[in-house]
Amino acid sequence: FLPHLVAAMEEVEETYIMIKPDGFQRGLVGEIISRFEKKGFKLKGLKLFQCPKELAQEHYKDLQSKPFFPKLINYITSGPVVCMAWEGIGVVASARKLIGVTNPLNAEPGTIRGDLAVQTGRNVVHGSDSPENGKREIALWFKEGELCEWTPVLEPWLTE
Ligand code: UDP
Ligand code: MG
Repeated sequence: FLPHLVAAMEEVEETYIMIKPDGFQRGLVGEIISRFEKKGFKLKGLKLFQCPKELAQEHYKDLQSKPFFPKLINYITSGPVVCMAWEGIGVVASARKLIGVTNPLNAEPGTIRGDLAVQTGRNVVHGSDSPENGKREIALWFKEGELCEWTPVLEPWLTE
């Protein structure tokens, strides 16, 4: 029994979720947003956005030495993306589970990538990989005043 891990899982966190240009062009915006809504997370920011190259490079800076980096930047800037900030208990890891693993062919059925995509280079959605990166990415993609603080009326029915 690892009480510190249990406690960590129950932290309220924020994650940056982004529907990539393929997800937008394919008309999957409603489908993808509804999976996070139905799970019970709280949407705090939402916008349609044409991402400049410099922002894409900053967002993916940890991958800049990878051979696929130029293609990745072209992909992310190839059309509008849907930027979202979601909040909830354990939302970072939970959102990664809802999204599925990076290669959609290996992603479990029931996950977004498992159900809706076939290739790593067209995997429809991004999700932050740690609470620290969740905060970093939300600050990178949203300006002050673009995020909304609100209390869902359903809160007592979602959390005890
Ligand atoms: N990617 C790619 N080829 C690869 C690995 C990654 O095109 O071999 C792209 C893919 O769109 C992926 C993104 O780069 O979602 C970021 O990679 P990461 O390893 O962070 O995967 P993720 O966190 O999105 O699952
Ligand atoms: Mg990643």
